[in-house]
Amino acid sequence: MQPITSLDQQSGYPTHECGVCGIFNHRDASKLNYFGLYALQHRGQESAGIVASDGSTVRIHKDMGLVPEVFSEENLQNLQGHISIGHVRYSTTGASNITNTQPLLVTHKGTTLAVAHNGNLVNSIELRSMLEERGSIFQTTMDSEVVLHLMARSACLGLETALQHTFSALKGAYSLLLMTQDTLIAVRDPDGFRPLCLGKVHDNGNEGWVVASETCALDLIGAEYIRDVEPGEVLIINRDGMKSLFPWPKQNSHFCIFEHVYFARPDSEIFGINVYRARKAMGRILAREAPVDADLVMPFPDSGNYAALGYAQESGIPLEFGVIRNHYVGRTFIQPTQSMRDFNVKVKLNPVRSFLKDKRVIIVEDSIIRGTTGKSRVRSLREAGAKEVHMVVSCPPTRHACYYGVDFPSADQLIASKHSIEETGRYLGLDSLHYLSLEGLVKATGMTRDNFCLACFDGIYPVAPDPNFSKNALE
Ligand code: SF4
Repeated sequence: MQPITSLDQQSGYPTHECGVCGIFNHRDASKLNYFGLYALQHRGQESAGIVASDGSTVRIHKDMGLVPEVFSEENLQNLQGHISIGHVRYSTTGASNITNTQPLLVTHKGTTLAVAHNGNLVNSIELRSMLEERGSIFQTTMDSEVVLHLMARSACLGLETALQHTFSALKGAYSLLLMTQDTLIAVRDPDGFRPLCLGKVHDNGNEGWVVASETCALDLIGAEYIRDVEPGEVLIINRDGMKSLFPWPKQNSHFCIFEHVYFARPDSEIFGINVYRARKAMGRILAREAPVDADLVMPFPDSGNYAALGYAQESGIPLEFGVIRNHYVGRTFIQPTQSMRDFNVKVKLNPVRSFLKDKRVIIVEDSIIRGTTGKSRVRSLREAGAKEVHMVVSCPPTRHACYYGVDFPSADQLIASKHSIEETGRYLGLDSLHYLSLEGLVKATGMTRDNFCLACFDGIYPVAPDPNFSKNALE
């Protein structure tokens, strides 16, 4: 049997984290959630799930796979009710398996509670061991499960106090949805690492609510964007209306700037800024910071597209699509019997020789993580006849690991943590390599440096990470 390779594993890019979507007061809450998750698929492709409630009965369906693989018309029909929460997962704590799919659902003293979480808790090892010592039995190896245990322990104090107790104990990143039989709750950590937005949807004259990781989910289901769930905010939505609580003292936000560099969809508004515009501005600033004399500017689909557009417009060098993507390559494929050099890149992307022959080319990339993908991409352009190959990157060198929900490899696997820019350029086979400055990156968002987490670039972690943390620490 031929080995099957996952293209995601081969991508060499930082992998996404998770996406969440919640609906309140809509007849088709689970169907709407399905489409919301469809729009958020780029945030997690390992598993998907929806929990729905009609006010008394709670039903769940979840499985490994993409949203359209997990849900059918029939199982969406079974998820009846006017409230739902949904989740798409890429594992950042705990293995990728059916046990670790979300939402997680438990019943405690007659109350059903479900959770869907985007982000990573940095004190989950400590909390879990404290809970286990006091008798808690965990079903999964995900950090998110501690939320349910903490909520159950404080349940007798009433919902608001239980929420306050639970979330005061958590450290790290959480844009999170909770659901009981009759209530939808949205919580965003005080740093606001991950995005979370609030929208309104209309159903036959009734007003309903949507909470989602990105605004592109609201667009698809026809919801009106109202505002972001603010850092440190707890929103409780039920038949009594919507209540907003701020249980923690006000502090500076630390939005993940990588959402703008790479993760979020370009049609989303993230932290109040359109991602497409921010990426194009990164390209424009990069063209001013790192001018290169060349014949054409090109992205590698689909990384760096919008930064490449900005770089080309600012520099006056034509933008060309020098590499064509095969859109019909699935997520896995059978490896060739004999080893074909760079097969994993070639199966998906093919250079256009007649554009590249004897040309001086600037590749615009949105990040370099391990450098392995970049190396074969540069080689493919040289083989297609490019005379010079330069690379400009729309963020600074990524030198530090992420502990807040992005599956960056550990620092020693990041090429920029061990090598200078010149060494990296030589390794990739480039004529020159240039990165956007940190100041330029922040400027492209129109916000200030103190609004953001920049830890993977500058090593300054807004919330102290646990030195014992690893993706499989709870396995
Ligand atoms: Fe985002 Fe980097 Fe901060 Fe992680 S370390 S939250 S990827 S900016």
